[in-house]
Amino acid sequence: MTSVFIISAPSGSGKSTLVSRLMNEVENLTFSVSYTTRKPRGAEVDGEAYHFINRTEFEDRLSRDEFLEHADVFGNYYGTHQTALQIAENKGKDLVLDIDVQGAAQLKKRIHDAVTIFILAPSREILEQRLRSRSQDSEETILRRLADAAREIQDYGLYDYVLVNEDLELAAETLKSIVRAERVKRIRVEEKIRPILATFGPALEPEKAV
Ligand code: ADP
Ligand code: 5GP
Repeated sequence: MTSVFIISAPSGSGKSTLVSRLMNEVENLTFSVSYTTRKPRGAEVDGEAYHFINRTEFEDRLSRDEFLEHADVFGNYYGTHQTALQIAENKGKDLVLDIDVQGAAQLKKRIHDAVTIFILAPSREILEQRLRSRSQDSEETILRRLADAAREIQDYGLYDYVLVNEDLELAAETLKSIVRAERVKRIRVEEKIRPILATFGPALEPEKAV
C-alpha cells in the first residue's frame, strides 16, 4: 500500500531544502513531479523539478480532467497529474508531494489517509532573511511572498504535522522521523504482519487466548 505524504510551506520556509534531504536520505520514496505554467528558475530541468507547459496546454489538460488537484499560485497554474499515485504504486514506493495549501485540501478529500505536513520558518523576520539570502527573487516577488505567507500560515490547522524549521539538521531529522513513524502505523502494516503471524501457527480463538 502506497503512503502519501503531502508537504506544504510558505515560500522561503525551507521546504525544498528539507524535501530534497528527505528524498535523498529516506529509502523507497518517489517525488510527484507537478505540471506548471511558471517559467523554469535557475538550473531547473524540465521533467525533474516540474513539467513546464504553457497555459493553453494546462487548460487543455484541465478540461480533460487530467489533474488530481490543481491551483493558481502566484499567478501560475500548478497541478498534480492523475497518474502520480498510480506511478508510485507501480514502483512499490511511497509518494511525496510538494503542493500548496489549496492543493493539499483538495487531495486530502480524495486520499483520506494522506499524511499532511506543514513547514514554517520560526518568524516573519527569518522568513524574509531566507527569501533574501536565496537571492532568486525580485523585491516585488519577495514582498508578495511575505504577504502570501501571512495568509497561508492561517491554514496550518488542515495539517497533521507542523514542523518549525529553525535548526536545519533537527528539522531534516524530524521530517524523516515523521515518514518513518507513519510507515509503521498498524493500519499500514497489517498486510506485512499477517504472514509473520502465520509463522507462529494458527491464530488462537479469542476465548482460548486467556
Ligand atoms: P522553500 O522551498 O520553502 O521556498 P528553500 O528550501 O529554497 O525554501 O529555502 C530558502 C532559503 O533558506 C535557502 O537559501 C535555504 O538554504 C535556506 N534555509 C532553509 N532552511 C534553513 C534553516 N533551517 N536555517 C537557515 N537557512 C535555511
Ligand atoms: P514554486 O514556484 O516556488 O516552485 O512553487 C510555488 C508553490 O506552488 C509552492 O507552494 C508549491 O508547493 C506549490 N506547488 C507546486 N506544485 C504544485 C501542484 O502540483 N499543486 C499545487 N496545488 N501546488 C503546487
